Amino acid sequence: MRNLVAFFACTLAISTASANDPPASAKAASSAPSASKAAAAKTAASKAEPVKLAALDNAKPAAAPSAKAAAAQALSEADAEAELSAKIAARLAVMRANQAARVAAAARAKKATVTRREAVAAITQPPPARPFHSDTWSYEGETGPANWGKINAAWSKCGTGTRQSPIDLRDGMKVDLEQIGFDYKPSGFNVVDNGHTVQVTVGGGNFLTVQNRSYELIQFHFHRPSEERVNGKGFEMVVHLLHKDPEGRLAMLAVLLERGKGNNTIQTVWNNLPLEKLDVVSPNVVLDVAELLPQRRDYYTFMGSMTTPPCNEGVLWLVMKQPMQASPAQMALFSRMYPLNARPVQASSGRMIKESN
Ligand SMILES: [Zn+2]
Repeated sequence: MRNLVAFFACTLAISTASANDPPASAKAASSAPSASKAAAAKTAASKAEPVKLAALDNAKPAAAPSAKAAAAQALSEADAEAELSAKIAARLAVMRANQAARVAAAARAKKATVTRREAVAAITQPPPARPFHSDTWSYEGETGPANWGKINAAWSKCGTGTRQSPIDLRDGMKVDLEQIGFDYKPSGFNVVDNGHTVQVTVGGGNFLTVQNRSYELIQFHFHRPSEERVNGKGFEMVVHLLHKDPEGRLAMLAVLLERGKGNNTIQTVWNNLPLEKLDVVSPNVVLDVAELLPQRRDYYTFMGSMTTPPCNEGVLWLVMKQPMQASPAQMALFSRMYPLNARPVQASSGRMIKESN
């Protein structure tokens, strides 16, 4: 700022001087005869210093400027002030830009320091506790079935429910269970590998009727090995067919799969597997879900849950007693994708299990 004041003072001095100069020169030029006369008089008085005296006389008119010269001087001073203001503004702009750059550089340096500190902290401190609202679950390890109820608050039923599935089917009440009414027909479908199983969504119009309620087939999917056990015995695979009634009640039909001859419906699904997880294949062919049903229609029934998070309860389970067959090649193909995607059996907790006589 001191530089600016000096600059201002200096500029003002120069401006004043240059404003005085032109009238002085003009006066000197226009009044040459009188100047000569005065010089001659002075020469008479002192012949020794004629040049110096002439110079003194020439300077005299400048000490008393005319009105015109004063106006010109004022004008020049205004110009100079405007010019100075512009220069100060420019200088301030440069200073502010420099200051902003310094602030930005300091912020960058601070951020770098924090990042380094965080990096050091990450090395020296234990990882934070697992968040209680993850959507990640699996069939093994940290995110496996034993921890589903702790992964997400909305999945607490997986850990604390008393009507969970699957269960080991034993000590059922043998009664004359009504026949399940099946109304399945060849339907359009699409296939997705959802990261937990191969799931087939079926076009509308496929129903099962039980306990005077009609449930429409929504989708079916596969587990390996079977989630259900019958008197402790597991099966190589199981198909779960999920149905829903108009009020939103769920009915899950389970068809156990054992090794044997190939199944057309399963083969049609395998033929249309998507190449990537979560990609949906919508084939231009139909699927006959009835071909997944065993000839004998005896079954077990109990109240249970979905066997994947969030493990919602209130699901009517219907497990067909007679297993269906799939070929070793069909079994092997699924096991390449999902060698294990079955939830372990859950406590029956005194639930009633009914079974066909
Ligand atoms: Zn299932």
